Amino acid sequence: MRRRPRPSPCALPEEPARLRAALLGWWDAARRDLPWRARPGARPDPWAVLVSEVMLQQTTAATVAGRFPAFLARFPTPSALARAGLEEVLHAWQGLGYYRRARALHACARAIEAGHGGRVPDDPEALLRLPGLGAYSAAAVAAIAFDRPVLPVDGNVVRVGCRLLGLETVPGPARRVVAEALAPLAAGPRPADLAQAVMELGALVCRPRAPDCAACPWRAACRARASGEPERLPLRPVPKPRPEQATLAFLLRRADGAVLLRRRPEGGILGGMMELPSSPWGPERPIAEALAHAPAVAAWEPVAGEVRHVFSHLVLRARLVRARLSDGVPADGRWFAPAELAAAALPTLTRKLLRLGGVEPPPPAGRAAPSPEGPRARSAPRSGPDRFRPAGSG
Ligand code: SF4
Repeated sequence: MRRRPRPSPCALPEEPARLRAALLGWWDAARRDLPWRARPGARPDPWAVLVSEVMLQQTTAATVAGRFPAFLARFPTPSALARAGLEEVLHAWQGLGYYRRARALHACARAIEAGHGGRVPDDPEALLRLPGLGAYSAAAVAAIAFDRPVLPVDGNVVRVGCRLLGLETVPGPARRVVAEALAPLAAGPRPADLAQAVMELGALVCRPRAPDCAACPWRAACRARASGEPERLPLRPVPKPRPEQATLAFLLRRADGAVLLRRRPEGGILGGMMELPSSPWGPERPIAEALAHAPAVAAWEPVAGEVRHVFSHLVLRARLVRARLSDGVPADGRWFAPAELAAAALPTLTRKLLRLGGVEPPPPAGRAAPSPEGPRARSAPRSGPDRFRPAGSG
């Protein structure tokens, strides 16, 4: 008797049409209402889709849900964002982190204004040429906003694909294999819904931990479920340790409560954002040595504790000293009265240091009530392989 050939791990375990029908049926019943998502049967706003995709790359859906409505109300079209100054955009981006994306989105809006008459292009290639949009984002906008038959592959989709296909590999190398294997799913009816449904399945059912296989529309076909250990895939990469750097931050206040802040250099980590004056980031140095970088001669007093802030590629440990300036002019920076802090672009690191020093910063612009997603919110950002990945976070 001839043995049946074992299925290739790159081949779908079921007919695409059957997988698509099962998934879309699940999507119609289980899809969440999210601020950036068009209602069933409604045409999506391409600009809203593009903005949400940029926000979701490195920020959780729960956080984006709280910030997206205010941002879109302030910049409802590419033209509105293109007209705004970068300072205003960075301020509106507060709380979303990875500020490089705010700059990229600003540049993207200007390119849409200049090259596409203020309308988001519907062609994946044209989308890919916009500043700040990588392969994933361009595919997501093309599929979700314009119903193009492409399947954007984010971290959720890689995980679902690895399990469905039974891929014994880590997520990085799996991305291309999953994209090729799942592509036939998009080549059918309702590509916009299909793209969102796969992502939603990864967010709600095929979760990183404890996938709810009993509720999954693909449970009968899934190879990882058949193995009895669906959570094992994709294989976990060995994490690389992030190097640590240290700094000493200076919290200088005037008698009227104003705080001294300075702008970080453009182009680097937290470029253009406001920070407390601080010593250069690098190996830990004794406080007495770091005090040489103080913005003024004053009676600096150490503050107990430290701030540990994790960037994508390093961990920063910041100690703090504080003082009141009775006379003299600081060598660097600008005074911010307490009421003015609300208008300053304060990254999370600066907020943490202000709190450590006893100054409560105002909430980020657009902070809203808790996410409508409740406890089922996606816990991890999409982390697509896009161009503005790492280099600086908030
Ligand atoms: S059956 Fe389980 S492991 Fe397979 S895709 Fe569905 S939720 Fe994920």
